[in-house]
Amino acid sequence: MKRVFNFNPGPANLPLEVLEEAQKELTNYKDTGMSVMEISHRSKEFEEIIEQAETSMKELLGIPDNYRVLFLQGGASTQFFMIPMNYLREGETADYILTGSFAEKAYKEAVKIGKVNVAGSTKDSNFNRIPSPDELNFSPSPSFVHITSNNTIFGTQWKDYSIFGDFPLAADMSSDILCGPLDVSRFALIYAGAQKNLGPSGVTVVIIREDMLEKVPAELPSMLKYNIHAENNSLYNTPPSFSVYMVNLILQWVKKEGGLEKMKEKNEKKSSLLYEAIDQSDGFYKGHAVKESRSIMNVTFRLPDEEKEKKFISEATSRGLVGLKGHRSVGGIRASIYNAMPLEGCEKLADFMEEFKK
Ligand SMILES: *Cc1c(COP(=O)(O)O)cnc(C)c1O
Repeated sequence: MKRVFNFNPGPANLPLEVLEEAQKELTNYKDTGMSVMEISHRSKEFEEIIEQAETSMKELLGIPDNYRVLFLQGGASTQFFMIPMNYLREGETADYILTGSFAEKAYKEAVKIGKVNVAGSTKDSNFNRIPSPDELNFSPSPSFVHITSNNTIFGTQWKDYSIFGDFPLAADMSSDILCGPLDVSRFALIYAGAQKNLGPSGVTVVIIREDMLEKVPAELPSMLKYNIHAENNSLYNTPPSFSVYMVNLILQWVKKEGGLEKMKEKNEKKSSLLYEAIDQSDGFYKGHAVKESRSIMNVTFRLPDEEKEKKFISEATSRGLVGLKGHRSVGGIRASIYNAMPLEGCEKLADFMEEFKK
């Protein structure tokens, strides 16, 4: 069997052990004689899976007791409008910080629903950095502040959440949830499409503080109400059961690997190999993100011209380093190195960068 080093941005690589475990129990889950895909979402077996996923997420992130973990559908993109539909009322203002394409998409949805203030933006430098605190202009009492913790396309990442003080903070963590320890108590709501760092596509994890559940407007359709999903333990309707099962396997894998401190250590090591290859290339490789804002999940860089970028990608592919083409809004190369990317993948890529330059 031939596996490659998969640098795709999402859906992204999954640990081989996890795939093999899923394969092993694919046709007969725990002696039920059925696949997880075939059992009832109301069965004891599935309830155990979804409960274990919520508990494990809480354990790994040290989530305080006054939070719930929900497993929803519609991707992170549904959260773009679900959050303002729940928390942006007439007469209120929400603050959005624009640090990339997904942040802009979230903002464009919120504008359809209520009053929105752009509290900061780095669009004028093609989102190559996270704004500094003194560049931010918050409204007097925003109903919430929305940020994108890791900008998947541009390769930048927030490093300090203390600057938001007591504002209710809502964060799109689709591409860096579980990349390392996090103080969840700083957030009112966190959401993440699973297909980058948590598992396959089809499920979105929402971590929500309980007081937010009480603020949900009564008139919203049930599927858009966070409190309905919380009251029903994410089983209000049929959940994406196989995706939840896969997320649960990933969470057990993260625990087995040593938890989030270990993930952080590994991710820092992996990303610094690539950033060193960029910084030590005498300008052959040019990083897109400014140093202070560099992401440990998505490493973005350009080569001297597009011809060389094409050649880089095709030669890398022939060595089993795949998925390196950058997004069209940045161009060049993007190496997505989520938790499941082994150190060896980054070592191979860094070696290849050195050799290709020569
Ligand atoms: C991929 C991504 C999204 C889009 O997620 P979907 O699940 O496809 O809706 C949103 N935000 C960020 C930061 C992402 O990386």
